[in-house]
Amino acid sequence: MTAIDPTVQRREDDPAPQRQGPAFMPETAATPAPAAVAPGVLNAFTVDVEDYYQVQAFADVISPEAWSRWPGRVEAATDRFLLMLKTAGVTGTFFVLGCIAARYPALIRRIAEAGHEIASHGWAHVRVWRQSPEEFRADVRRTKGVLEDLSGTRVTGYRAASFSIDGRSFWAYRILREEGHSYSSSIYPIRHDHYGMVNAPRTAFLPGGPDGVVELPMTTVERFGHRWPCSGGGYFRLFPYALSRAAMRRVNRADGMPCIFYTHPWEIDPDQPRPAGLSRKTRFRHYVNLSRTAGRIDRLLRDFGWDRMDRVFAGPIGAAAEGTLPGGTGTATQPPSE
Ligand SMILES: [Zn+2]
Repeated sequence: MTAIDPTVQRREDDPAPQRQGPAFMPETAATPAPAAVAPGVLNAFTVDVEDYYQVQAFADVISPEAWSRWPGRVEAATDRFLLMLKTAGVTGTFFVLGCIAARYPALIRRIAEAGHEIASHGWAHVRVWRQSPEEFRADVRRTKGVLEDLSGTRVTGYRAASFSIDGRSFWAYRILREEGHSYSSSIYPIRHDHYGMVNAPRTAFLPGGPDGVVELPMTTVERFGHRWPCSGGGYFRLFPYALSRAAMRRVNRADGMPCIFYTHPWEIDPDQPRPAGLSRKTRFRHYVNLSRTAGRIDRLLRDFGWDRMDRVFAGPIGAAAEGTLPGGTGTATQPPSE
């Protein structure tokens, strides 16, 4: 763990998203926004833009070659996110698959025109540790190029498919930097059957050394001697909203850290087609509480302060670029300090 927590970004000089009183409420808010649960801390709201048939858990049932046979739903669901964010007066970060951008170019322009950060989720959702360094570089370059052409913005953020950067693929951080990225949000420091790196630090660090980009790990909360996931996704749908809110509040208040929340367009689309042949576990994880998720996210947007990844984490991103971020020798193999 780093001695100095570089992920803390208090932006008292930027009152708009904190919503501490009526003066800062967005005019279009449907309901009055309560005072932020943790005033002064801005969290990162992120959407991984991919379609329901592209998730890793479906790979045994729907191969990438069969993707084109499934009806696309990502555009409508992403537009719904854009409306929810606009209503709440929030900007966030959209990690977009390159193949989705190529298929829905107008969608990418709409996301960027709304003021959100466009970032890379790789081309076609291939996990990093399955790629050679050469394949990874080509994938990163192709995706970044398409996203920048469509959005007219610089793309500096990267999130690996299925949080698939781990000890097998720390070479990726150097390639990301060489290709013009400045941060990654690709490690979930928990134990999970599909991903996770349980001993990784909870805060910004440099897994690839000083020549690589900074990793901004997905949020965890430490309670009762354990580390728990606290970053959205399936856990946010499974557990009651109040539990997620309490965990995030603890991270903001007790740890003084921003949270990273992630979700997907398919998580607010309960009417998506349901392919046959999925295991019971996959069906449960994918479909649990889909019809409640949009409402919960609406509440989340009003209960906390939010912004884009590149602004919430401007401190550690800048420090890593300047070579002043502590822990530049790859601290990922060290156990977390308790
Ligand atoms: Zn993904």
